[in-house]
Amino acid sequence: MRLEGRRESENVEDRRGMGTGTKIGLGGIGGLIIAGLITLLMGGNLGDVLEQASGMGIQNEGTTQTNFTEEEQQLAQFARIIEASTEDVWSQIFRENGLGEYQPPTLVLYTGSTSTACGQGSKAMGPFYCSGDQNLYIDLSFFQTMQQQLGASGDLAYAYVIAHEVGHHIEYLTGTLQQAHQRMQATSQSNANKYSVRLELMADFYAGVWAHYESRMFGSINDKDLMEAIKCAQVIGDDYLQKRAQGYAVPESFTHGTSEQRMKWFKLGFQTGDVRRATTFQESDATL
Ligand SMILES: [Zn+2]
Repeated sequence: MRLEGRRESENVEDRRGMGTGTKIGLGGIGGLIIAGLITLLMGGNLGDVLEQASGMGIQNEGTTQTNFTEEEQQLAQFARIIEASTEDVWSQIFRENGLGEYQPPTLVLYTGSTSTACGQGSKAMGPFYCSGDQNLYIDLSFFQTMQQQLGASGDLAYAYVIAHEVGHHIEYLTGTLQQAHQRMQATSQSNANKYSVRLELMADFYAGVWAHYESRMFGSINDKDLMEAIKCAQVIGDDYLQKRAQGYAVPESFTHGTSEQRMKWFKLGFQTGDVRRATTFQESDATL
């Protein structure tokens, strides 16, 4: 991507290197007040993909890192630029579609673990959106995990991850997220999974729409960038991750969609740039 000289967002909260206070008498996870729901980038059954990351959540507790490497600072700057781009793009889309003024989420950068309105967030969960505080949370080392463990890299692939989480924020602003969560609480697990898949594919679609506008407004995306983003959508498909982790896939347990579906909806968003095509809840299982 061509990102030189681009605006950096001010809606970014940098909590990197801060102790997170997880020891303060919370009495374990059960003592947390969970306000709002979390949507993760990837499904629950990641197996070995993120196993190495688990447990590292409280490693840096009480320590405060103040000097970052050049690479860490570059990644943080990149995240601020992409957040700013999503603000510019979604402000324009909201105007074009008479949706009022776009209220951006805050992007929270953290290391290890951090508290959220949805409970304790940790690096092992991957990037996520919490509707309770309307924040996107990301530990930037996830990009390294993507590269080293999933073989997905490139700045549009990384930007796609942020744009996907912003996609959940769009779902929140349009009410889709809340409606789906209500239905999910009143149905069986396998039905709830189906709603989840539709929410996730919609977020992938919105990430594609963002990329469409990013390309149109800033002329920043080339074919290689696009291939890298599609590759990212592929390696975070439920079937791909499950096969990788356990050798086989269990479709009923899918919460994010297959590789094919994730690529399809991202590409549809990129090609059309048309938010009215966000029809994942209108599709049958066969056409999804
Ligand atoms: Zn998601």
